Amino acid sequence: MTGAALQDGVILAELADVLGSHAVLVDTADRERYRCDQSGHAAGMPIAVLRPATTEAAAQAVALCAQHRVAIVPQGGRTGLSGGGSAIDGCVILSLERLVGVEELDAATMTMTVRAGTPLEQVQEAARRHGLDYPVDIGARGTATIGGTIATNAGGIRVLRFGMTRHHVLGLEAILPDGSILSRMGRTAKDNTGYDLKQLLIGSEGTLGVICRAVLQLRPWRANSALALVGLRDHAAALRCLTSLRQRFDTRLIAFEGMWPDYWKLVCHDSGLAKPPFAGGHGFHVLFEVELPDNEGPGDVEDWFAEVSENDLVQDGVLAQSLADHGALWRLREAVGEIDDALGPHINFDIGIDPSRLGRFCDQADRMLDALPQAGRTVKVGHVGDGNVHLLVAHSGLSKDVKIVEQAIYGLVQDYRGAVTAEHGVGRLKADWLRHSRSDTEVAVMAAVKSSLDPHGIMNPGSVLPCVHRGAGHFGSK
Ligand SMILES: Cc1cc2nc3c(=O)[nH]c(=O)nc-3n(C[C@H](O)[C@H](O)[C@H](O)COP(=O)(O)OP(=O)(O)OC[C@H]3O[C@@H](n4cnc5c(N)ncnc54)[C@H](O)[C@@H]3O)c2cc1C
Repeated sequence: MTGAALQDGVILAELADVLGSHAVLVDTADRERYRCDQSGHAAGMPIAVLRPATTEAAAQAVALCAQHRVAIVPQGGRTGLSGGGSAIDGCVILSLERLVGVEELDAATMTMTVRAGTPLEQVQEAARRHGLDYPVDIGARGTATIGGTIATNAGGIRVLRFGMTRHHVLGLEAILPDGSILSRMGRTAKDNTGYDLKQLLIGSEGTLGVICRAVLQLRPWRANSALALVGLRDHAAALRCLTSLRQRFDTRLIAFEGMWPDYWKLVCHDSGLAKPPFAGGHGFHVLFEVELPDNEGPGDVEDWFAEVSENDLVQDGVLAQSLADHGALWRLREAVGEIDDALGPHINFDIGIDPSRLGRFCDQADRMLDALPQAGRTVKVGHVGDGNVHLLVAHSGLSKDVKIVEQAIYGLVQDYRGAVTAEHGVGRLKADWLRHSRSDTEVAVMAAVKSSLDPHGIMNPGSVLPCVHRGAGHFGSK
């Protein structure tokens, strides 16, 4: 037995003492199952998967890992697309999947106290049973956890109206890398007593601590809405359409999702993942949703259609008339979650650009990719109202080809002063590209925060920032 294996054995025995052996999975098949997030990025193999059921048990496990300098990769539903929840060699996976459930829902203050491993959809459903809603919504809602969505500051399809996850978190409880518990489960929107530490943890992708519980701000549930799909000439027409909808419906416009012709062709024609509700041939498609007052029909939206068809802004359009229509229209946009087989190996760029320049950026990216032999088929879809495009580029599967395509696209993002990730997070896949969006000073401040909270670099090393782990040395970095 090697020294490293002996050391692992000692650590695992101590973890089993603290958590119970049922909560420490060491079988190869189990470790393999938890090894990667949805990105498929496989950086290494964990020595164990820890599944604590309480904050206190998780804190004891973190303290032990800190003592032995064992790296910890926190994990929620593993729907992440940036490799931030994927294992590195010699780490432990800290899965929050047993820390589940809504602890309290206070209808008067419209707040919910929830444990980190609870799936987002369960939170939405629990709120709706009380006539309330948690407005963060993403395609992976059934599996993504509240902890994971907070750790990544998830965006999604309703950011235009309600903002990112960080706008809805009132209180947070997290375990710091030394095993201490930082708890501020506040319920007030106003609290200026010093630094807002929860905001530091939100979006930190498991590199500063393990989120265990949260207090969420809910809002009244408005079930009534009008959903429409429109065919437009191009992205510029989509921007005019967005302005027109905002002027008319203001904050009642809750979603504005764009689909480029390359995406439309793959989803509706080549793969059959979704059915087009009208004949194609448009330069751009937009799916938009407008909140309606209770018991009111979509008359307002029909009036808007009549107005814009007079000025030729909209080439074709369809308004959902039933729940089935509603599902079929959203299917067009959410089919991106099932596109992997049709596209083969691909890079999933998640780019943020000033919305008014997004169309130009995409045209330039297309021209650049056309000229690159390393780039295969390209599709574009996204939260265009937020300036966020998901640009998927097929490739050979060879890492040298991936690097060339990334270099080209992230170079362009840098020219546009955009974000190399708008919502999915940096994770391990984009850590090398952080400086294409952040200045040296910004990266230095991030590194200083990281090393002050996590001096031994045990908390998700190699994710977000280049690896600074100073551990026992028997496990890898990036
Ligand atoms: C079909 C599909 C659609 C998607 N749509 C969107 C979208 O519209 N918008 C969007 O923003 N994202 C989207 N995503 C990405 C993904 O769903 C989100 O990033 C989600 O927030 C991840 O949640 P999770 O529980 O699966 O976290 P994981 O994938 O398990 O982890 C994600 C990151 O958070 C960390 N982490 C997880 N839980 C904790 C915790 N309790 N404490 C500390 N760190 C933790 C992990 O270490 C990792 O770095 C989509 C993914 C899929 C597969």
